[in-house]
Amino acid sequence: MSQGLLHKYASLLPVTDQTPRLTLGEGATPLVYAEKLSDRIQAHVYLKLEGLNPTGSFKDRGMVMAVAKAKEEGASAVICASTGNTSASAAAYASKAGLSCFVVIPHGYVALGKLAQAMVYGADIIPIKGNFDQALQVVRQLSEKHPISLVNSVNPYRLEGQKTAAFEIREQLGRDVDIVALPVGNAGNISAYWKGFKEAHQVQMISKTPHMWGFEAEGAAAIVKNKVIENPDTFATAIRIGNPASWDLAVQAREESQGDIDDVTDEQIREAYELLSAEEGIFCEPASASSVAGLLKKANKGQVPEGATIVSVLTGNGLKDPTTAMDSINQELEPISGDEEELTKLIFKHQEV
Ligand SMILES: *Cc1c(COP(=O)(O)O)cnc(C)c1O
Repeated sequence: MSQGLLHKYASLLPVTDQTPRLTLGEGATPLVYAEKLSDRIQAHVYLKLEGLNPTGSFKDRGMVMAVAKAKEEGASAVICASTGNTSASAAAYASKAGLSCFVVIPHGYVALGKLAQAMVYGADIIPIKGNFDQALQVVRQLSEKHPISLVNSVNPYRLEGQKTAAFEIREQLGRDVDIVALPVGNAGNISAYWKGFKEAHQVQMISKTPHMWGFEAEGAAAIVKNKVIENPDTFATAIRIGNPASWDLAVQAREESQGDIDDVTDEQIREAYELLSAEEGIFCEPASASSVAGLLKKANKGQVPEGATIVSVLTGNGLKDPTTAMDSINQELEPISGDEEELTKLIFKHQEV
């Protein structure tokens, strides 16, 4: 039986006797070796498939902790602003914990699968005519005045839960990792991984900490450009964020780990997205592919140390965003009659057997 992260890492988390051991079976996601990508960039690349969490994104790691604490503290409702995955995750854990869930989203910029999830889990969804940054601002204000628990990544329990991915990587790899590459939106994840690696180092679980490499979308690259982006723009909606909530922590992670935060264009993200599915058999969402896009960019510039052990975090499941998937294929499906002769002709048209 899956006992979840709060049970497995209790001693490394703010879990007390009073904390409900909430779980939907989050964590313990696969770490898969990517042969072709490794060849391409002359390093050893492992993909951490966070899209295999219960609601299909890494958000579940932090959400289980945040919702368990909300429950422990007697809250009756949780609230979040979301580009989609946070809302799906909050809605699922709130449902399991018996809490109400309110979700404020930027109207028109949430991928279809994420919206469907939040609605089916029974959250109250409130679209606003504004972007994520504005949604976060209003839920922050509201949660300060009312007894509703804010479960965005500004809630420190989110980062606590998310840091468990760092422990898992060490356990799964059986050795130290040199570089961890991941997408950056609100920058909670990069901050949480860094916290996890530092703590793992303190308890001698690892003998050295990795360099953290984060990648923002070029149209939303606030940290790279060192300024707030008023109108962030990218098709990778999960990282369409112009004023990252964990900005300072991300800069700290970059500096302390001697890492880097760089940007990737939508075109580079799309290429990586297609490459992962075509060559590695992995369907992730666009934002997730920015970690691989970043690795390819750095490899082109000769900045990937040869033979390095790299973990690239694929943060969310490709099924979340079927619209982008279909757009990227750009192929009309025309039905045929289905008789064997016609099918045979079609199948062997392009192929010598
Ligand atoms: C939330 C999210 C991100 C960005 O993570 P941050 O912690 O906000 O930097 C990246 N990819 C996916 C799929 C996400 O859901």
